[in-house]
Amino acid sequence: MPPKKRFRCVLLFGPPGVGKGTQGKILANIPGFFHLSVGDVFRAIDIGSTDGKQVYDSISRGELVADELTMKIWKKAVDAYVALSWYKPREDLLVLDGMPRNVEQVEVVKEYLEIYRIIYLECSDMEDMVHRIRRRAIRENRTDDANEDIIRHRFELYEKVTAPVLEKYDPSIIERIDCNRSPAEVLRAILNATIPVQNEHFRENQ
Ligand code: ADP
Repeated sequence: MPPKKRFRCVLLFGPPGVGKGTQGKILANIPGFFHLSVGDVFRAIDIGSTDGKQVYDSISRGELVADELTMKIWKKAVDAYVALSWYKPREDLLVLDGMPRNVEQVEVVKEYLEIYRIIYLECSDMEDMVHRIRRRAIRENRTDDANEDIIRHRFELYEKVTAPVLEKYDPSIIERIDCNRSPAEVLRAILNATIPVQNEHFRENQ
C-alpha cells in the first residue's frame, strides 16, 4: 500500500492564555491557511452524547481529554472539514492549535501530520496569563476559565506534560515568539515564520 498522505502543518504551541486562539482566528481569515483548534472542536461537541460527556467532564476539571478519545474526535472533525472542502489539504496549510499536547500524542500524530514549524508563544509573566484567562471566561463563557484553581492546575499540567513535547522536535523548526508583545507584533512574527512554509506548500502543489 502506498504511504498515506499526511497533512502539512504548522503548530501553534504554548501555555493556556498566550493568544493561540486569537492568532489562529486571524490566520483562519487569510486564504491558504486552515486553522483548527482542538479545544474549539471539543467545545462544539454535543454534551448530551457519551463522548461529549467525557470531554466536558475532563475540560471542566482542567484535565486533558483521554488520548484515544482526543484522536478519534480530532480525526472525525478533520475528515468532515475535508469532505466539506472547508479544508483543502493540497491548497491550505493547516495551522493546528492544541495538539500534540503530551509526548504520547507526539507519536500518534506522526501518522497524520508533517510538522514544518512550531510557533511557540512564550510568556514571561504568568500572572498576566491568569488575568487574560479570567477575562476570556467572561467573554467566551468557558467553564474551564472561570475558576482560579482550575486555571492554575492547567498551567501545572502544561509544564508537566505539554512543555516536554517541544523536546521531541528538531529545535530548528521551533520559532519562539514573546506573547507579551502587541497582538499585531505577534501576528507579524507568526507570519514571518509561516509564509515561507505556505509558499513551499503552494509551489509543490501547483
Ligand atoms: P487553552 O489553550 O486555554 O488550554 P484550549 O482551547 O486549547 O485552551 O483547550 C481547552 C481544553 O481542551 C484543555 O484544557 C484540555 O482539557 C482539552 N484539550 C485540548 N486539546 C487537547 C489535546 N490535544 N489532548 C487532550 N485534551 C485537549
